[in-house]
Amino acid sequence: VSFDFPGDDLFNEDEEDFRTQFREWLWAHPPPPAPVRVDRSYLTIYRAWQAELAAAGYGALHWPIEYGGADRPVGHQIVQLEELARSNVDHTIFVNAFHMVGPLLMAAGDDAQRNSHLPRILRGEELWSLLLSEPDAGSDLASAKTIGRVDGEHLVINGQKVWTSWGHLADWGLLLCRTQPGTSNHDGLSLVMLKLNTPGIEVRSIRQMNGDAEFNEVFFKDAHASTRDVIGGIGNGWTTARTLLGAERTGLALTYYTSMIADLHKLLLRLKGTSNPELREELARVYTGVAIQRLTAFRACSAMRLGSPSLAVASVGKLQTGNNRRTLASLRIASLGAFAMLNPQDQSPHSEDMDVYLFSPSATIAGGTSEMQRNALAEGSLHLPREKRRQEAR
Ligand SMILES: Cc1cc2nc3c(=O)[nH]c(=O)nc-3n(C[C@H](O)[C@H](O)[C@H](O)COP(=O)(O)OP(=O)(O)OC[C@H]3O[C@@H](n4cnc5c(N)ncnc54)[C@H](O)[C@@H]3O)c2cc1C
Repeated sequence: VSFDFPGDDLFNEDEEDFRTQFREWLWAHPPPPAPVRVDRSYLTIYRAWQAELAAAGYGALHWPIEYGGADRPVGHQIVQLEELARSNVDHTIFVNAFHMVGPLLMAAGDDAQRNSHLPRILRGEELWSLLLSEPDAGSDLASAKTIGRVDGEHLVINGQKVWTSWGHLADWGLLLCRTQPGTSNHDGLSLVMLKLNTPGIEVRSIRQMNGDAEFNEVFFKDAHASTRDVIGGIGNGWTTARTLLGAERTGLALTYYTSMIADLHKLLLRLKGTSNPELREELARVYTGVAIQRLTAFRACSAMRLGSPSLAVASVGKLQTGNNRRTLASLRIASLGAFAMLNPQDQSPHSEDMDVYLFSPSATIAGGTSEMQRNALAEGSLHLPREKRRQEAR
């Protein structure tokens, strides 16, 4: 099945040529099929394919050439996302590395940090997790309590993080910690990179309601990180974290745009002959959401390329992502009829639908909740008075 988007004249001839060229490359280098659960064996296969993509110059279209990217126009980037979606590639696991850590290092890292990590990220050799949230610091990230005591050339880390996606698989983590004793809120924080196999780090998985265990709690007991791995300088962690959070929202909006296109294709295959008016109406609603998300993806990519990622565009994209993911997942279930009652663990042909459905509420929480995005838009774009709060929130 295929579908058209309104405004398909968004792409010029050059971008359509790129689509043909990239499609041919995908036929010649078929990506590994996306698994229901990402594990180490899939990761090994996916890393190898990512290395092929990078070697062909398609690794990070949005990165500048000096950092190993392709510096291609925004249209090429969207075209690539759409073609990856049509080939059912799930790039979500690398979203932290490509859309968050990479751009952060370009914006705030030093040469040694960039030279060490960017080429490895490009080849899929570094999988990253974000160690930001704590049991008492989620939306109000600035109340993070994890300590990073400066001891000569090291930070000695003690504390706990939670909801760390892929912490059990990742090679590296980006940690927000308090490096200046006696400070609170956004003062005295630092953002540091550390290897997750460092002694003193314990990763414990958290079982989710879809049966997966993609999240983790991470405990630190006298774990050492190098001060050379602090990004943006010791004590500047809040400023650096704000840059990261903008990139996080944009990255999630783009990555989930890709998966929504893939989901829409699957839904159309299932429902293409349906005369059920409710399903048709919901399908049109989902399609409209994805079409709007596409335009927001354009704007977000343009803002990133201009070097001024817009927090407002990022918040709009993140809000749409959350709503669209939930609507789409509900429609997948509605389209199944009685099969929707099967247990997702039953390995039925429909278990993926239930899996996606049970995971979908998380899209309005991860990367900053929908409430926090609305707060940001109310204050940043509508210029409403700031709400009273004890400290800065994500
Ligand atoms: C799928 C998923 C993946 C995640 N991955 C990671 C990860 O890799 N690394 C990481 O560090 N974290 C991760 N998180 C954690 C995520 O960032 C936090 O869950 C999120 O920021 C909310 O924080 P919290 O859970 O502590 O909720 P809280 O901040 O306690 O919020 C609880 C409720 O109160 C509302 N609320 C709070 N403050 C306000 C306010 N000022 N105004 C209005 N409403 C408010 C919130 O919107 C929410 O509904 C992930 C979460 C999910 C769901």
